[in-house]
Amino acid sequence: MIFMANLKCNHTRKSFEEYAQILDESLKDENVFVFPPSSAFLEGSFKFKQAAQNFYPAKNGSFTGEIGQDMLDEFDIKTVLIGHSERRAIGESEEQLKAKFEYAKKEGFKIVYCIGENEEIFEKGKTKEFLKSQLENIDLDYENLIIAYEPIWAIGTGKTASSEIINDVLNYIRNFSKSSLLYGGSVNEKNIATISKIKNCSGVLVGTASWDAKAFLKLINSAKEMI
Ligand code: PEP
Repeated sequence: MIFMANLKCNHTRKSFEEYAQILDESLKDENVFVFPPSSAFLEGSFKFKQAAQNFYPAKNGSFTGEIGQDMLDEFDIKTVLIGHSERRAIGESEEQLKAKFEYAKKEGFKIVYCIGENEEIFEKGKTKEFLKSQLENIDLDYENLIIAYEPIWAIGTGKTASSEIINDVLNYIRNFSKSSLLYGGSVNEKNIATISKIKNCSGVLVGTASWDAKAFLKLINSAKEMI
């Protein structure tokens, strides 16, 4: 099972050093990815893979405030997140997402591509057609692609999607792609056991419940007991 921790805009370099040390002392061979803020990237090798929450689709250049590939390479980062709803919400367009995807694919990055509907679409029963449209811009046959289904109404709300919904949506996405499929949205130590049993679910993308290293380890251990 894949476990991904999206630390979002939390942790300084100092606190992330402590976080990394706690994880490193306890992890064995679990498949764990951690996305710290880019200002907290660490040098060195860890039992988890360090990954990027965001990047600009260029090696370097005159892109004020952005992080290019050179800056990811410095920390040996080979995995990037694209399409997170919190970035879409601040204006990242489908065009920009497509440019990021094309760049990351060309450079061979592992891409974690996030899709998910808002509450209104969910309530109208239009989730599947919406998700299909979100997948139109990307190469679903890219061998290094992971798709994360993250309903917006479940992110940071404590309102996890039910197993039936996750199962139904992941089965639907499976019609388009052979990639590993993740679920994200208020995953925690208590609901991970149920989520880990869903057929097409290869793992989870965790926000809030991953910000404390010990809590994230507990979540991983709860899932392992079920596998
Ligand atoms: C996320 O932001 O990707 C996420 C899943 O957050 P949370 O676990 O807090 O819902």
